[in-house]
Amino acid sequence: MKPAPTVSRPFGRCVTWSPSLTLVPTNGCFNACGYCSFRRIPGQEQVLDPGAAEARIAARPAALEVLLLSGEVHPASQERAAWFARLLALSQLALGCGRLPHTNAGPLSLREMAALGRINPSLGLMLEGFGPAYDALHAHAPSKRLAVRLGQLEQAGRLGIPFTTGLLLGVGERRSDRLAALEWLAALQRRWGHIQEVILQPWRPDGAQATPLGAAEQADLLELIATARAILPPEVHLQTPPNLWPLAALSAAIAAGIDDLGGIDVGDVINPAYPQPSPQALAAVLAEAGWQLTPRLCVHRGWWPWLPPALARRLAPLAARLPAPG
Ligand code: SF4
Repeated sequence: MKPAPTVSRPFGRCVTWSPSLTLVPTNGCFNACGYCSFRRIPGQEQVLDPGAAEARIAARPAALEVLLLSGEVHPASQERAAWFARLLALSQLALGCGRLPHTNAGPLSLREMAALGRINPSLGLMLEGFGPAYDALHAHAPSKRLAVRLGQLEQAGRLGIPFTTGLLLGVGERRSDRLAALEWLAALQRRWGHIQEVILQPWRPDGAQATPLGAAEQADLLELIATARAILPPEVHLQTPPNLWPLAALSAAIAAGIDDLGGIDVGDVINPAYPQPSPQALAAVLAEAGWQLTPRLCVHRGWWPWLPPALARRLAPLAARLPAPG
């Protein structure tokens, strides 16, 4: 392994997180990614009822971010319009309940992305990665073709939408694939400036029980985190999901360059075997290493000036409702 590059910490001793709850508009998906246990075959999906969505939001008053995480309907399907209308309606519901929606629903047409961007302060789509390991995992997932993902990230940049993306790591990709993906994201950010955060997500096997990251996997990812910090422009936050790291090793990931823990719900709908540590537990572990856990909204402050006025007006009052730093 090559020596890790020197880590600069553009965000000081703060480690941010977003109090959030996840709604799944539908778990039906026309893709079939090799690792996905979230997906149901179209026709066997569960569709979220608006009344149930409202009840879930009402039950979590501290969750200021409503993450809409949806399975996908084929762009040519007759069901697409109804699916997209549901995303818009749930976004409006979140706003109406005094929250901020953040939608991650796969590739969107220009018109769809623009419409969601007017009522979502930020949107998300994982790049996942470059190279043959991803091609094999996504052989039956047209939405995951690399050209589609790159086009989506460019489109979000042209529209000026604050955006979250990321890499899925540990699926057999080569170091050169990782570096190529990071270099591409860095160039994208220099073109458009809209990438607010890059998630460095360890792939974890699904199942009834969690399989913690081993020591070799941790060492590999720590080197990658430091490399990402050196390659990506300094304004881009680096995020990792805290439930996918052993709690005792999380400080090492932060020392390597992670400065954000993403939206934290009470569970993880994608990796349900990996329980979310509570913000209190995270704050205690980080404080021991001299880091301060600091809540944020779904859109990072550096991108607040990017938002349409109707959304921007909501931010300061909502930020005042965030809990105190841990
Ligand atoms: S696109 Fe997402 S929901 Fe659909 S199969 Fe792939 S990982 Fe699962």
